[in-house]
Amino acid sequence: MNTVMTETTTQRLRQREYLLQISRAITAQLDLTSVLNLVITFAVEILAGNAGLIALHEEEDGSGPLRIRASAGVPPEVLPAFSQLLNLNLQETSTRTVAAVLREIASDTSLTLRQVIALPLTLRDAPVGTIYVFRAAVNVSFSMDEAQLLQAFADQAAIGVSNARLYQSVLREKQRLDAMIEQSADGVMIVDHRWRITTFNRAMEQLTGWPRSEAIGRPCAEVLAIQDVNDNNICLVDCPLQRRPLDENPIVEGRIMSRDGRERYIQSRYAPQRSPNGAFLGAIANVRDITDQKKDEESQITFVSVVSHELKTPVSIIKGYANLMSREDAEWNPQVIRDGLHVIEEEADRLTRQIQDLLDVSRLQAGGLRIDKTDWSLTDMAQSVAQAFATQTDDRFEFQLRFSEDFLPVHADYERIRMVLTNLVSNAVKYSPEGGIIRIGGTAQADYVIVYVSDQGVGIPPEEQERIFDRFYRVDNRLKRDTQGAGLGLFLTRAIIEAHGGTIHVESQLGRGSRFIFTLQAARRQLESEVV
Ligand code: ADP
Repeated sequence: MNTVMTETTTQRLRQREYLLQISRAITAQLDLTSVLNLVITFAVEILAGNAGLIALHEEEDGSGPLRIRASAGVPPEVLPAFSQLLNLNLQETSTRTVAAVLREIASDTSLTLRQVIALPLTLRDAPVGTIYVFRAAVNVSFSMDEAQLLQAFADQAAIGVSNARLYQSVLREKQRLDAMIEQSADGVMIVDHRWRITTFNRAMEQLTGWPRSEAIGRPCAEVLAIQDVNDNNICLVDCPLQRRPLDENPIVEGRIMSRDGRERYIQSRYAPQRSPNGAFLGAIANVRDITDQKKDEESQITFVSVVSHELKTPVSIIKGYANLMSREDAEWNPQVIRDGLHVIEEEADRLTRQIQDLLDVSRLQAGGLRIDKTDWSLTDMAQSVAQAFATQTDDRFEFQLRFSEDFLPVHADYERIRMVLTNLVSNAVKYSPEGGIIRIGGTAQADYVIVYVSDQGVGIPPEEQERIFDRFYRVDNRLKRDTQGAGLGLFLTRAIIEAHGGTIHVESQLGRGSRFIFTLQAARRQLESEVV
């Protein structure tokens, strides 16, 4: 009797020890397979079995066939032999049938399996799987006590399954969130309670030029150093997350310099998290690139100031002359009157050209710049434009035409290209205060022509050579004040050339002069006047 008591006590102790180990494993690791393997190994040992299996339903709601997920004492390659057993509902099947199935498995697998005990694994009353323990002995059948013992292991296995599922769903949710943050078109940055970056998405990398690997762990004020108009780092002098009174969703706008030297305007919206007593726990920042919007706003402001200035100048000249000439107390001789009228006419023409430019710009923005192509001679046009400028300018300038022998007629909009040539020659004159040679020339290629207008004027610094084609852009030099202009000429010139399918660029050296080069489609046939 004593020995039996001792044996039972030892077994209880062992059982407790095993269950403890299993629950430690469950809390220590979230890998379901290793938890299940531990459960089945201990269950087989404590029930003095020689093999065991744990099978789980495929679907989380307990439906779908059972699949073996852990085993003890069964070589993995013979596991398929157990499929017939998995399909049986052991509670409702006769002992004889179960014994027959076991015999079949035993002969298929060369394992000695004579008895089986199986218990369902349930999670909040829903079935999740079954645990099986097999014995080789014939005469010792599983007792009620042993069934209870196995139940304790089954419960542990069910807890393991529950934990793993919870973990899986948290993981899936996290992956979904990570993907959403990563794919977001706006920059997303998460900072912890010490204002250190913990998450930095791809849009943030592009915006700031900081690779994620370097940005993470750094203070946000260093990586996203938003500057105000006075070049102060707003994040250091007036951190939006620390302003009092505390703002629920602070928004900051300002300038940043990306690491690769690009200047961007950004708007950053913060969603801070705070503890009930107001302590800062961290924040999510949503950062948007508003450079284009800012540029548009700036160019609207420039537009109004440039246009009002440019239009006011000829109007005040016209008004001045008209006033002067209508004074009743003065007698003007006919020459003075003629000169005055001439100035009025010139200024009125300038006004008309400027209004025309403005109209073209607004048409261009609305996408409606119409091009009416015909075949005509560009050399003739160059001659007439040069002629017109030669009579307007004093002899500081020499106009030269340099077209190759085989130069072809072009297929283009006559009026628009005249405007292009006039703009380029007018700029050549305007930006050559010392005068010099202005050359218009060209060469022919297979089906297009290359045309240029060159001068010996002030030239354009390399870093400005692309920007001069932007709307309202004027190079900031002495001539900016001394010459009239709204910075629209080259913008329109490029738009016209591109609308023809051509390209335009400038080659220039500071102080040496500039050469504007554009291409146009050649006419498919010779002009009739040239065939003869
Ligand atoms: P605008 O002449 O009205 O200022 P444009 O669009 O025609 O406007 O030209 C833009 C700027 O490009 C000018 O302000 C000038 O600084 C520069 N630019 C244009 N043509 C020349 C040139 N031939 N030589 C030097 N600078 C030029």
